[in-house]
Amino acid sequence: RQADVECRVLVLGAGPGGYTAAFRAADLGLDTVLVERYAALGGVCLNVGCIPSKALLHAADVIEQASHASEYGVDFGKPKIALDKLRTYKEKVVGQLTKGLAGMAKQRKVRVVQGTGRFVSANELEVAGDDGKTQLLRFEQCIIAAGSQALKLPGFPWDDPRVMDSTDALELADVPSRLLVVGGGIIGLEMATVYRGLGSEVTVVELADQLMPGADKDLVKPLADRLKKGGVSTHLKTKVVEARAGKKGIEVDFEGENIPEGKLFDRVLVAVGRSPNGKKIDADKAGVRVTERGFIEVDAQMRTNVPHIFAIGDVIGQPMLAHKATHEGKLAAEVAAGEKKEWVARVIPSVAYTDPEIAWVGVTETEARAKGLKVGVGKFPWAASGRAIGLSRTEGFTKLVFDEATHRIIGAGIVGVHAGELIAEAALAIEMGCEVADIGHTIHPHPTLSESVGMAAEVFDGTITDLY
Ligand code: FAD
Repeated sequence: RQADVECRVLVLGAGPGGYTAAFRAADLGLDTVLVERYAALGGVCLNVGCIPSKALLHAADVIEQASHASEYGVDFGKPKIALDKLRTYKEKVVGQLTKGLAGMAKQRKVRVVQGTGRFVSANELEVAGDDGKTQLLRFEQCIIAAGSQALKLPGFPWDDPRVMDSTDALELADVPSRLLVVGGGIIGLEMATVYRGLGSEVTVVELADQLMPGADKDLVKPLADRLKKGGVSTHLKTKVVEARAGKKGIEVDFEGENIPEGKLFDRVLVAVGRSPNGKKIDADKAGVRVTERGFIEVDAQMRTNVPHIFAIGDVIGQPMLAHKATHEGKLAAEVAAGEKKEWVARVIPSVAYTDPEIAWVGVTETEARAKGLKVGVGKFPWAASGRAIGLSRTEGFTKLVFDEATHRIIGAGIVGVHAGELIAEAALAIEMGCEVADIGHTIHPHPTLSESVGMAAEVFDGTITDLY
């Protein structure tokens, strides 16, 4: 069969991984086609992930700040929320970015083909449009960036609109009186923060023995305390066994150590993880191996077992984060263009944009202790930060984890407002092989929260007394 489209590089999926790869490939002079099933570019992150969630979190943050302003003599009264306007604001933010991407694709002469792609051979992809028509695309090299989707736990009446995944929750159909969030990870707690801010009574259940599994317990505590104070009830070591759709709400059966009092909820958000889309693209027809769980394995150059086919982003594994996908996208495109490169990033930061934010990078203290690594920890409580006191947000702290023998920084964790903005300095320090004294000797501006990073490099837990 004659191909409808021929190209040097085909990128499958236009999320942060895919569009970055396509733009980089085009910038390097490769004739590039980008295939995306939806009309808007940007993938999960721009359309139903990072960006809309942060737009809504901004609104929740303003509400939260206003509600505490009476502490310093400013009273805004009870907020009036026009849900339509908030939704429009979120859509405007998303639209601005996705339109920008379309313009950038055009500028670079990246051809965008809309439709759902499936491999038919190691050099061909068939794309089915919404109108049912198919096109055959032939490529010399391919970059798979098909992403992931929310896990749909069994035992929930998924055909009932009151049962939501994160995409549904971001639609903001209404502000439910009683919202149950199943899963106390980053996405669950970000959405809990949004809905709590808008006025829902929020209950969170989490299977693990702490919220935000993966982060150090001490980092999570200030968040857990603030959620509690704000009226969010959290239930650890507890799971949902069944949920039924009823007239008065979704009726939920729990099992575990901290069962919530009520069983009836107006809406239920299930945020228990995401599954990769590797099994939905007929990768086997191209000879690309896909694991049982749907991940595609790659080497340090992002190549799959088929050397001219690369894979990047959520579809290749954890952590499922946009900034990981973009770095991988750039690398895959550069290798496809013939550059001799491989993955060299030492660390990938994680941020929960909750209130307070939690950010961590590199080896966590818990991990270091579990592995028996000989580490020192520098910790600076924000109660001693002039800036945090002025902001009336002293519950945060900054900690640096460093190798006791070399004094090199190997990890960092920050909890507090804007922690996500502050973690980049630690990521840079780790990438550059900084010793803790390098940060201690760097002059940080006063009064800022960033000073806390400098101070953490000077305050030790006693394991090392004189680093300078
Ligand atoms: P995706 O963004 O999933 O994009 C894949 C694209 O491929 C999609 O557009 C899809 O339509 C398309 N596609 C798939 N299969 C086909 C096919 N067969 N044919 C055609 N097109 C196809 N990460 C962060 O770093 N920071 C955050 O703050 C953050 N917040 C998040 C909040 C939420 C609510 C969610 C759900 C996720 C969040 N993430 C965040 C994660 C982030 O969105 C993902 O890690 C990121 O989008 C992954 O990028 P990707 O390019 O691998 O895939």
